[in-house]
Amino acid sequence: MPRRNSAYTKNLIEPIVKASVSDRWETAVLEWDICDCEEDESAETNCMCGHEGIRYLFYIRNRNNGTTFGPIGSECIKKFGRKDLSSEVDVQERMFRLYEAITKREYIELDTKFFSRKFLLYLLEQGAVSEGDYGFMLDMFNKRDKDGITGGQERKINAVIAFSIKPFLQRRLASKRK
Ligand SMILES: [Zn+2]
Repeated sequence: MPRRNSAYTKNLIEPIVKASVSDRWETAVLEWDICDCEEDESAETNCMCGHEGIRYLFYIRNRNNGTTFGPIGSECIKKFGRKDLSSEVDVQERMFRLYEAITKREYIELDTKFFSRKFLLYLLEQGAVSEGDYGFMLDMFNKRDKDGITGGQERKINAVIAFSIKPFLQRRLASKRK
């Protein structure tokens, strides 16, 4: 159990352990899933640990009794020490960042600034992109030499972003930003 920050222990670890079936932090963390995520564009929200100014607000729910907590910042979710939750946090943040860039009409390249292999896989699993488009996007993402991407391939990347990924993000996130 991290003990360095007592506010963190008192405001986050203690209530979470109390609301869990397990009475130890190390096993209590296994009982929680992320149930919602919102973006506070002005970053004026506080994490339940007391940390000020979080932008991505995560909410967690206990699998056994349905108790929910939040908002929690991504750094605190990562302190749960669960790879699956940390990966979910990463994908959620990528969704918000990509959506913002699309709405601001930024030029989006298929590189690590916005994408990751896990994020592409998530888009497939959620039905945002077809199997064929997923394979294509992954190939292009994996290309080391991005200059080798042809004009035709670039148009296809842009089309997948504009006609598949953008509407998906809009459906998912439009009501989650404030
Ligand atoms: Zn926190």
